[in-house]
Amino acid sequence: MDPRYDILFEPVKIGPVTAKNRFYQVPHCNGMGYRDATALAMMRAVKAEGGWGVVCSEQVEIHPSGDIGPFIELRLWDDQDVPMLARVAEAIHANGALAGLQLAHNGMNAPNLITRLTPLGPSDLPVASIFNDPVQARAMDKSDIADLRRWHRNGARRAQRAGYEIVYVYAGKLFGGAMYFLSRRYNTRSDEYGGSLENRVRLLKELIQETKDAVGDRCAVACRISVDELIGPDGLHAAEARDMIGLLAEEPDLWDLTLSGWDNDSQTSRFAEEGYQEPFVTGIKQLTRKPVVGVGRFTSPDTMVRMVKQGILDLIGAARPSIADPFLPKKIEEGRIEDIRECIGCNICVSGDHTMSPIRCTQNPSMGEEWRRGWHPERIRAKQSEASVLVVGAGPAGLEAAMMLGRRGYRVALAEAGTELGGRVALERKLPGLSAWGRVADYRVGQIARMTEVEVFRASRLTAEDILGFGYDHVALATGAVWRRDGVARRVLQPVPQAAGAEVLTPDDLIAGKRPQAKSVLIYDDDHYYMGGVLAEVLVKEGYAVTLATPAADVSNWMRNTMEQHFVQARLIELGVGIAAHRVLTGIAAGVVDLACAFTGRPHPVEAGAVLLVTARLPAGTLLADLRARQGAWATAGLKSVTAIGDAEAPGTIAAAVHAGRLYAETMDAPEDPDMPFRREVTGLAPAPGMWRLA
Ligand code: ADP
Ligand code: SF4
Repeated sequence: MDPRYDILFEPVKIGPVTAKNRFYQVPHCNGMGYRDATALAMMRAVKAEGGWGVVCSEQVEIHPSGDIGPFIELRLWDDQDVPMLARVAEAIHANGALAGLQLAHNGMNAPNLITRLTPLGPSDLPVASIFNDPVQARAMDKSDIADLRRWHRNGARRAQRAGYEIVYVYAGKLFGGAMYFLSRRYNTRSDEYGGSLENRVRLLKELIQETKDAVGDRCAVACRISVDELIGPDGLHAAEARDMIGLLAEEPDLWDLTLSGWDNDSQTSRFAEEGYQEPFVTGIKQLTRKPVVGVGRFTSPDTMVRMVKQGILDLIGAARPSIADPFLPKKIEEGRIEDIRECIGCNICVSGDHTMSPIRCTQNPSMGEEWRRGWHPERIRAKQSEASVLVVGAGPAGLEAAMMLGRRGYRVALAEAGTELGGRVALERKLPGLSAWGRVADYRVGQIARMTEVEVFRASRLTAEDILGFGYDHVALATGAVWRRDGVARRVLQPVPQAAGAEVLTPDDLIAGKRPQAKSVLIYDDDHYYMGGVLAEVLVKEGYAVTLATPAADVSNWMRNTMEQHFVQARLIELGVGIAAHRVLTGIAAGVVDLACAFTGRPHPVEAGAVLLVTARLPAGTLLADLRARQGAWATAGLKSVTAIGDAEAPGTIAAAVHAGRLYAETMDAPEDPDMPFRREVTGLAPAPGMWRLA
């Protein structure tokens, strides 16, 4: 190990327990939770194996009145939940880490959609859930507060019984219900739990003290608190947060610091650099003698060392960097810095939680697949034959397939038409805010360069004839996709009429450097991910008058799932991009784009010299069809299989392309069962009621 990084491997005492090093996987949700128990346990096990000194759970509901459904987190509602939580702790311990459990009562954030209990908060107000659920919380009375304190004590005892060494009191990110009591906005009480700062921290103080009384002899008690809401003086702001922490300074055994809400805490690389939370956490360590953990998408060991040496943090917190590379600590310890798979800050991982589906990661295709498919972020089983494989196209899918096939020991050729490797990532990394996405290519290109099994051929655009002439056993076509030019996407399913002379462009044109001749451009976005918003930014900054029209209610609508939608919309508004929501494309004439109201169909033509269609994509080229047309020649050529992977099979996210590359490598010589391609865990049934009649 480089001695510069020794400091990161010093043990840190946290109350009655000691973390073996400073690498701390902070609580993070993952869309698996109570539904996917063993998959979740295995995911945490891999983090522990990768060297994290502490591995925490996601938020764990302590009572059905704090039900954050439909989001899938963990529950510790009663003793029935203990075995599942114990399984996760056991998986973490088996790999040498401390296990942390984030107890949470979601308070006013919990609409209680599943449990149908009345939500609880400091005041009578609508619940603060993202779906605008038509549900209000009732102001908690003294007996509610007594109940909450009891639930929390019980939760702590159950956490200890389940084997956790660190137990949280959660008052951050407007998830932990205690934060609503801290907040001047939400807490309008006139009793001893409202008003002055001392009163507003009272509940949190009680929860911390009672958790310590309940389990503090053997467990460390962590307090997760937010240090700024970034909404100015109305919200929790830095000075007030410091006063709060000052009042509670020595109460918990550990301070876990976050920005609030989650969108600010987990900002993407498009909007924030690595270490962006530094100004908000600097100085907080000086308010307490207890250790402090903070986050900031840390992937650089030098930055981590600086955080510790400058007295900003004691523990390097990470959610996303631990998702992209569960082996980050081990790689630093072993001096393998160039092997770190750096998080690109895209928040695809967050989209798993928001879509209530198992976590996924653009950089780490094994994330969420550890138990289900048996994938490991660092290991893959050895080859099962002497087969040779030609991978055509070096985008995310082709690079991943070639790298993992090479790791298995297969002989691989990777042919790329261009001179640069990376496919769409090599191009899109040049767009504003997306440079970190290039890490998808950088990591894989770097790995492949050191592998004797993989030979790379650049500037090699292959035809079906070329491929048949080479004599490889298997061919993966990772040749990507092209943007459609006819308006077809979600809302419009037939090509839109286009007048001769109309100037129509696609993202491929702009990415290749082409620009509209007209000075006014209408972007029609029926893709709803990043491309429409990013290209609006490109064009408006170059002086074009830009309007973005979309059938959705807002721009880049799917990015609600990556928590970026509101940041994108704010940026476009500030840049002067016109936004036309609820508009459907009906035709393109010279100088006029015909749009219609998405609800009434009423025409709303817009004058624009050029139109940029950000719609659907189609697999690129004809290679697959050409090879299939020559299937009679495969046997003589020695060719056994041709498989389209990634965007060449069906266009999707970069994460999906990387996953497809991994799947191809994993299933070489071991095809997946088409009827049930992965392992499932089915929840046990309660005993059947006798006679199927209610009394
Ligand atoms: P994915 O996201 O599925 O990996 P990309 O579009 O990022 O797809 O990458 C596809 C890559 O395939 C591009 O780099 C492109 O240049 C390359 N490519 C396309 N057709 C051919 C071909 N016939 N021969 C070699 N490379 C090709
Ligand atoms: Fe990082 Fe993106 Fe992976 Fe999340 S999905 S951990 S943001 S690379």
